Amino acid sequence: MRDIEFICGFTQNPEGSVLVRFGKTIVLCTVKAEEGVPNFVEDDAGWLTAEYSMLPGSTYVRKKRRTAAGELDGRTVEISRLIGRSLRSCVDLRKLGRMTLYIDCDVLQADGGTRTAAISGASLALRLAVDKLLNNGFLVDDPYTGLVGAVSVGRVDGRMVCDLSYEQDVRAEIDFNVIMNQQGEFIEIQGTGEKGTFSEDELMRMIDAARKGIEQIFQKQEDSLEAYRRSYTQSW
Ligand code: UDP
Repeated sequence: MRDIEFICGFTQNPEGSVLVRFGKTIVLCTVKAEEGVPNFVEDDAGWLTAEYSMLPGSTYVRKKRRTAAGELDGRTVEISRLIGRSLRSCVDLRKLGRMTLYIDCDVLQADGGTRTAAISGASLALRLAVDKLLNNGFLVDDPYTGLVGAVSVGRVDGRMVCDLSYEQDVRAEIDFNVIMNQQGEFIEIQGTGEKGTFSEDELMRMIDAARKGIEQIFQKQEDSLEAYRRSYTQSW
């Protein structure tokens, strides 16, 4: 695993805000709550949705602002939907009332693993947002069911690597993204043999490596949350 860091309360306006760093990959994750739900949502439930974007200067080659031109590339849509699905698994939507939680993940610097950093950071930002909404009386029952962690794992030059950098990602023969909850259950596994195939034994070893990586992510998330809550209480 690369060095990982979470900074809670990085910006002030959102209900929850976390700056997450996986190595050189940096993502700002924010959560804003709004009244109302899309019309497909069940009568007694709220909703959670996510958007992912890369800033033009976040990549080695400038990333064009496609949203400004009214276009969304497939990768952006795919990652936004993955973040939304992953984060919906850690809230009980029936406890949200008729509220929608908007998760925004903006990549400040990309060096591989932006979606896994975004999911791990957004899960923590969601915890902060729910805390604020409970404190302000906008929520009565805690809908949060636990942290979510995500990591990439792959085979690079025949070796198993967890949390791949861009340089490793480009060379990876197999590339997986694994998302898990704190109960040790899987939320989603995306896996591709980009430049080769993999055996069942390798699949199990990759999942095992991802599990160990995600345990480290949970530890960092909890340490950061505890430090933030302590400093927040002291500032009163
Ligand atoms: N990348 C880039 N421009 C793009 C897409 C990706 O520079 O338009 C780089 C970036 O460093 C990213 C890495 O390629 O982190 C791997 O991209 P991938 O689609 O596998 O997603 P990620 O690993 O970031 O979740």
